[in-house]
Parts: sequence; C-alpha cells; structure tokens
Amino acid sequence: MPHSPAPRRVLGLDLGGTNIKTTVLEVADSDVTSARHLDGTTVATYATRGPGGVIDRLVEVAQEAIAATPAAAPPIAAVGLGIPGLFDHGSGVAQLLPNLPGDWDGQPIRGPIAAALGLPVTLINDARAFALAEGTLGAARGCPTVVCLTLGTGIGGGVLIDGEVRLGAFGTAGELGHQTADPDGARCGCGNRGCVEALAQASVLCAQAGRGSVEEVVAAADAGDERALAAIARAADAIGIAIANAYHVLGPDRVVLGGGIATAGDTILEPIREAVRRRATLVPRRGIDIVPAELGARAGAIGAGIAAAQALVRAR
Ligand SMILES: [Zn+2]
Repeated sequence: MPHSPAPRRVLGLDLGGTNIKTTVLEVADSDVTSARHLDGTTVATYATRGPGGVIDRLVEVAQEAIAATPAAAPPIAAVGLGIPGLFDHGSGVAQLLPNLPGDWDGQPIRGPIAAALGLPVTLINDARAFALAEGTLGAARGCPTVVCLTLGTGIGGGVLIDGEVRLGAFGTAGELGHQTADPDGARCGCGNRGCVEALAQASVLCAQAGRGSVEEVVAAADAGDERALAAIARAADAIGIAIANAYHVLGPDRVVLGGGIATAGDTILEPIREAVRRRATLVPRRGIDIVPAELGARAGAIGAGIAAAQALVRAR
C-alpha cells in the first residue's frame, strides 16, 4: 500500500505593535514546500497593556484559532510566533523589542504561551519569518540561496539557504539593515552610526522628501518632484549597499524585498536595482535578480507557521 502521509496543521502568529496576524497552515508530512495557507485573521495587539497583557492576548488569539478548527480537520499540532525583535533562542526570553511599549527585556515569551496552550511553540524574528515564507512559498520558492529585506518602519532581513533560515551563532544572522553604509552617518536604534536602517527607513525617507507617507513620496517622485526623487535616490543607494554586500558574501539566487517601501513599486525598486548593479561588480548583471514579495501582509504569519512545522519535523 502506498505511503500516504497524514497532513498536519500548524498556527502561525505574527506579533506587531498594532495588530496580531494569524494564519493556519496545512502541511503534508514533512514537506513544508507543500504547505497550504488556510484561514487568517487580523486582530488588535493592545500593546499598551504591556508584556503580560500581550502574552495573554497571544494565548487568547491562538485558543480561538485552535477552537475554530473543524472537527474533521487535523488538529493544530504546533504554534509559530513571529516577534518584532530579538530573543534568546535557547530560553525563549525577549531581549530587544523596540517597537512594543513596556519593559520586554527578560520577559519569557515561549514558556508561558506553550504552557497555556499545551503545544510546542517556536519563536522567530518577524523578518526572518518573512524570509522563510517568501523563500518557501513566495517570490523565491525553489531558489537555494535567498536574501530578503523588509523595508518599512525599520529594515529587517533574513537569509535562507537550502530551505532553512540561517540564524548564525547568536540568532542575529540576516540583520541586513544594520550593515554600516556611512561610517559617520546618523545614529541607529541599535547604537551604531550610519546603519542602512538609519539612512533608509520609511520615516527618514519621508522626512527627507518632506512628505507624510511613503505613498506620498512615490506620488511626488512620479510627478517629477526633485526633492522626492533625491530622497529616493539616497535611500536606494543605502539599501543598494546592503544588497550588493549580500551579493558578494552570499551570492543569492534571488533577493526579495517586502514592506511598505518595496510595495511602492518600480519608482523605488528600479533605483535600488541600479545601485546594486553599480556596486556588486563581481556579480554578472544578469544574475542580479531583485523582486518584490508575493505573499502580502500575511507573510510573517505564514513564515512563523513554517518555522513551527519545521520544528515538528526536527522533533521526530
Ligand atoms: Zn543599526
């Protein structure tokens, strides 16, 4: 009789400062590239309730998703949680969550959620979750080496090699936004000077263009506004440095850009591509393949779910 692997379901959660996004994935056996994403929801985080309140909220949201699973479907076997910052991979304790109010440093995250749900919980940085999703099911599916950047409030990143997010020795591998692009540049939230994030995140782009949002900057640039075009050129140059460095270090088959800046389209993407072509001099021009993300706003939740599914396979 042919082997017919039982499908499993996992829940992906993406914790943001404003919303928690959820998605349910169904995975046939151990092959995460076959995962299908089913229903998803977006609910308020209530981040001002502080760490304890947010942990309770995550548990509540997960319990609702678990309860909504149809009786005939496989039950949810694990939970993945994407978080906007850094944590200790061994202990599941938060280290740096700059975009959530309250004192998160030292706050246990994985332990209390796993205990409340009675399920294994896998934590993953939200940009690394984005990379895992886009590299497995999205714009870079099938590519062996993938570099992803999220260009928005901050600049996050992730590196995927042979289907696995590479976390490095400290869980910080893939922090492409904290490469130094200007040795004497503006102070970054990380403490360094001149990081790509400090030069090219959305707030800096908008301030330099004198506009209130990335959409307004793009509309002004499309209408020929010189200040907006100059602001985009500066941001694109800094992002181009980050990506050109990644080309020389990792040689990615494809680079995927997500977040509010990337979804603004070719007005920003083309100057970024041009900056990379100018700097990644040892890479064949035809090899420079920089594309927008495909999975939309739910990519982080999908990636968290994939991380949970991979952890289940490893635990067998
Ligand atoms: Zn930095």
